[in-house]
Amino acid sequence: MAKKSVHGKKSHGNGLQTFRVHKFDAGSKSVMAALKHEQAHFPAIAFMDSVESQDPETIAKAYLAQALASDSARGFAAPVVDQVASEFKSVGSESIPLTGTTAVRFRQTLNKIPVYGSLVTVELDEENQLLGINSAIGSPEGISPLAKISTAEAVRAVAQHRDYKAALENIVPRLNYFYDVAKGKWHLAFILEDVPVVRGTAKGRVPVKVDYVVDAQKGKVIAILPRTPTVAATAVDCLGVSRTFGVEQSGGSKVLRDTLLNVQTFDFKKKDPETQFNLLPGTLIKNPPAFSPSAVSAHANASDVSQFMRTTLMRNNIDGVGGAMVSSINCIQVSESVGGLGKEWINAFWDGTQMVYGLRFKSDGTALSLAADLDVVAHEMTHGVTDRSSRLEYRLQSGALNESYSDIFGVIVNNFRKPDQSTWNWEIGAGLLPNGSPFRDFSNPPARGQPDHMRDFVVTPRDHGGVHTNSGIHNKAAHNVLVSKTASGAFVFTPREAAVIFYLALTQQLRPTSQFVDSRNAVLQSARTFFRALPPAQLAGRITAIGDAYSAVGIT
Ligand SMILES: [Zn+2]
Repeated sequence: MAKKSVHGKKSHGNGLQTFRVHKFDAGSKSVMAALKHEQAHFPAIAFMDSVESQDPETIAKAYLAQALASDSARGFAAPVVDQVASEFKSVGSESIPLTGTTAVRFRQTLNKIPVYGSLVTVELDEENQLLGINSAIGSPEGISPLAKISTAEAVRAVAQHRDYKAALENIVPRLNYFYDVAKGKWHLAFILEDVPVVRGTAKGRVPVKVDYVVDAQKGKVIAILPRTPTVAATAVDCLGVSRTFGVEQSGGSKVLRDTLLNVQTFDFKKKDPETQFNLLPGTLIKNPPAFSPSAVSAHANASDVSQFMRTTLMRNNIDGVGGAMVSSINCIQVSESVGGLGKEWINAFWDGTQMVYGLRFKSDGTALSLAADLDVVAHEMTHGVTDRSSRLEYRLQSGALNESYSDIFGVIVNNFRKPDQSTWNWEIGAGLLPNGSPFRDFSNPPARGQPDHMRDFVVTPRDHGGVHTNSGIHNKAAHNVLVSKTASGAFVFTPREAAVIFYLALTQQLRPTSQFVDSRNAVLQSARTFFRALPPAQLAGRITAIGDAYSAVGIT
């Protein structure tokens, strides 16, 4: 195939040339049609068995290579710089649940050195057909790819720079082609990312972290780039564990707002979330003064649940569209307050919009937030997901299902980093009651006064028909699913598989008045969809395991 010449658009302020096509952009119609037509003759695509069955990275790479080679995509070609051809290295593929599409992103390299700021995003539709390409790539001409200084010398150049005092432990300089916007000039440079700094001789506001760029020929700092306001903070939570979490820099203080995950944490300052609900969420928590352990627990645990939703369930926060996940700590209820050390309220709930957490005092007088346990936080946040999906009525069997699904995700999120279910902790809210007992035991509901079989189903007018009681029956069925084993003794489901089938059941199959038996059918239905690509015998094994798990508690 003949190489086409580069005749792209003029350089932008960042030294990169841009190119964009999209199937649903009228202006791209002829280019997209030509690319589609040429695919039949482009070897990397023409010889594929079927485009649909390829993994997204492979097919996206082929589409990219085709578009770069095609004369139809004018202005889009792999830059050849000083006789060296550009390469494109995948930096990850992500399926986007909101659109059903997959985005595969590539970084441009020359001589294996990344071109700073370059990015090519290739989008694929459900059938792995090309949906769009969005590209920004550079041509750093006349720059030797050989550094004249060492990484140690680059670190020293930063340490000697007077603007800020930099903390350089564990910072690794990485070679890049870097475009100096001020001078309109490319450099070979070492980039030191996310270096924590404090004030040196620089005037004005001091960023918390910066990226340093050091010319790799001359050894001089050529740019200092402040990072976004979301930074990491580290502090101790209610359980005495050091946690690192996202905060936002706001003037001279850090606030508990993670702008990437959209997680925010407020102090309700011992007000009552039921009678004073109009004052929720309260005051966004700031440092200084130092973050309290209660604040750290609520914020770090909510961030963990957000990460779990995003990576495992491919759900973008509680509302599915990335909306803020808000928590308020230090909530009390005047009428129910107990204890001699101050007002306490041993409760936590999802109020339809946000999480609210009470607190109690330990015998040494320190506050223990109800947000201390990750399982309790995941439980409350799952109520939010239920609200936005199946909307299971909070009474009788549907209410017990509502409670049980919150417990299911409480347990799964709390244990998710342990791949072996035999080592899981099945207690929910361990250590939060004054006597040290957990709220519930997922593996052994009777240990905490709950039934674990339909024959012991409790009929009561209290607690909306015993929603916190009868949930034990469905919890036991879910526990059976999580620990069910094959004849050879292996777990039938990985934690991720179990999480996904319960999540699909809750959000796609259940409805406001679903009963226990509907949940059995919902989980089975979800498993049939999720495992549909497996050989029939393996699918059947999973279906049998779920049926047995529910039958064992009398849900038939
Ligand atoms: Zn609940």
